Amino acid sequence: MPVLVYTENAGGKFKKSIFEVVSYAKAIADAQSTTLTAISIGDVSADDLALLGKYGADKVLNVSADKLKNFVNQAYASVIAEAAKSEGADIVVLSNSFSGRGLAPRVGAKLDAGVADGAVSLPELSGGKFSIKKTAFSGKAFAVVELTSAKKVIALTPNSYQVVDKGTSAKVEDFSVDVKESDFKAMLKEIVRSTDKISLPDADIVVSGGRGLKGPENWGMVEELANLLGAATACSKPVSDAGWRPHSEHVGQTGIAVSPNLYIAIGISGAIQHLAGISRSKVIVVINKDPEAPFFKVADYGIVGDAFEVVPKLIEAVKAY
Ligand code: FAD
Repeated sequence: MPVLVYTENAGGKFKKSIFEVVSYAKAIADAQSTTLTAISIGDVSADDLALLGKYGADKVLNVSADKLKNFVNQAYASVIAEAAKSEGADIVVLSNSFSGRGLAPRVGAKLDAGVADGAVSLPELSGGKFSIKKTAFSGKAFAVVELTSAKKVIALTPNSYQVVDKGTSAKVEDFSVDVKESDFKAMLKEIVRSTDKISLPDADIVVSGGRGLKGPENWGMVEELANLLGAATACSKPVSDAGWRPHSEHVGQTGIAVSPNLYIAIGISGAIQHLAGISRSKVIVVINKDPEAPFFKVADYGIVGDAFEVVPKLIEAVKAY
């Protein structure tokens, strides 16, 4: 019974989070002494499909029907479920990305499988039990869930597992499924990118600003630091509410949850609702002029100082590096 991993693409390319998910699924397959089959839907080049083998897939099912070129939740869920049935896979793994969060319960329902979304570690297998640690309450807590069903769907939180280059290769096979017309009730026609900036949920590094930056005119230094570091920019809720930054950058309980390797918070107090969205960050750096700011309690590195003095110095230091 192979493990099946769904490898979503963005404009025909796989993001780093997908190689993470393949490495994670490979570890599950190894623990079950079985093989790993990847399924890719959409227009992906042969070279990119081959990369899936490098990170542990033994076989790649390539679905490239015209109708499935763009993401359609219900239709993609049908294809993944059919692939799982045809491969005899009991475990389906995908990314807990925006589309993965929509797919996991749909695939689960089609396979009558238990679903663990937001997984942050490999399953624990003991005494015939299959338990998995996942985020809960918008990232404020962790829960351990036991999947008791024969079939299981796991959605991995990005940046929770390391990419492992196995140096192996996979055979690529075309796979086709007759998807019902009723699965195409809502069709995505076109994706128009509003920006070519690094996508916040997938970012490795995030530079985030709060009300301490006083106004939108001061965001130049945040963007400069982010550009130098190859980071995405983010902000606290009041900043986007005030229209200083777009709502797509708002991080927290009511915004986007991020899990970068480095989160730099500038002039943000660290209210619990903000921390809910960033608690999965590996290293947190806080710059705040108030030594009592709550953010310092969760910081790995803290700089007590005025952002308007500290950030320009940081920029100079990064430039000189
Ligand atoms: P402030 O609280 O005003 O903090 C500004 C910080 O900047 C202060 O710590 C100050 O010391 C520092 N500062 C000032 N000047 C400087 C300077 N020159 N240099 C350095 N530091 C300086 N908030 C979110 O962010 N995300 C959410 O998803 C979210 N959801 C919410 C949901 C609900 C139901 C509610 C009630 C609230 C929510 N909030 C959320 C709001 C949250 O409670 C806080 O009000 C908000 O996070 C505060 O934003 P801030 O830290 O930017 O601003």
